[in-house]
Amino acid sequence: MAETVIQVSNLTKRYDGVLAVDRISFTIAQGEIVGYLGPNGAGKSTTVKMLTGVLRPTEGSILIDGLDLLKAPIEVKRRIGYVPETGGVYESLTAYEYLQLVGRLYHIPEELLEHRIEEFLRMLGLDGVMHERLSSYSKGMRQKVLISAALLHNPKVLFLDEPLTGLDAHSALLVKELIRRLAAEGKTIFYCSHILDVVERTCTRVIILHKGRIVADGSVERLKELTRQGTLEDIFKQLTYSADIEELAQAFARSIVEMSA
Ligand code: ADP
Ligand code: MG
Repeated sequence: MAETVIQVSNLTKRYDGVLAVDRISFTIAQGEIVGYLGPNGAGKSTTVKMLTGVLRPTEGSILIDGLDLLKAPIEVKRRIGYVPETGGVYESLTAYEYLQLVGRLYHIPEELLEHRIEEFLRMLGLDGVMHERLSSYSKGMRQKVLISAALLHNPKVLFLDEPLTGLDAHSALLVKELIRRLAAEGKTIFYCSHILDVVERTCTRVIILHKGRIVADGSVERLKELTRQGTLEDIFKQLTYSADIEELAQAFARSIVEMSA
C-alpha cells in the first residue's frame, strides 16, 4: 500500500453566512493524481486554500505527510507546492527575479536555484524573456511562472487550482504531461478543475464536489460503473444537475432580449 499523503477529516469552511465546504473527508495516497471537480462555486478553491494553509478551516483536520497543518504550518509548507487560481505576481520583477525571490524564501541554495530557474524557464519556453518584467507577460506566460514557482523547492504534494486557464493548446499539453511525469516520480497531485475532459485523461481518481459536499469519489471507471453513464461529463451532469440551470439560462436570455427591446 502506498503511503497516505493527504488526510482530511470533516473539513468545513463557513464564510459569514455561506457554507462553502461542508464536512468533507478523504484520504489520498502518494503518487495519486486526483481530479477535484465541481461546478463554479462548489467549494474547490476554498478546499485548496485550506489544504495549503491560506485559509483557516472553520472545523475539521488536515494532515499532510502525517503532519497536522494547523500545528506545523511551516513544516507542511516545505512539502507542498500551490498554483492558485488567481495568482498575483510582482509585476515590476522579471520572471527570473520573481523565481529567485520565491526560491530564497524556501532557502534553496543559490547555485541549485539558478540552475532550476534556468532549466524550468527553458522547458516552458520562457528562456528568451526571463529577464523581462512580468508586467509584459501574457496570462499564459504568468501561469507558467506560477507553476515553476510552485515546483522550485521540489515539493512532495502539488496543488493546482485550474492550472490550464489561459494556456494555449501546446502549453496545456506540456503541463498535462508534466503532471503525469511528476506523479510517476512519486509526487501527489491535487488538481482542481471544472474542465472535465482534461481531468478524465490525466487523473487516476476523481472527487466530485457539489455545494460543498462530496457527491462522488473513485476512479473514472468505477464512477462510470456506479452511475451507468458513458463519460465523465455525463456523470458530472447527473451528480451536480440542478433544474436551476435551465431556468437560469432561460431567465438570463429573456432579460437580455428585454434589455435590447
Ligand atoms: P469553486 O472554486 O468551486 O468555484 P469557491 O471555493 O471559490 O468555489 O467558492 C465556494 C463558495 O464560497 C461560493 O458560494 C463562493 O461565493 C463562496 N466564497 C468564496 N470565497 C469567499 C469569500 N472570501 N467570502 C465569502 N464567500 C466566499
Ligand atoms: Mg475555484
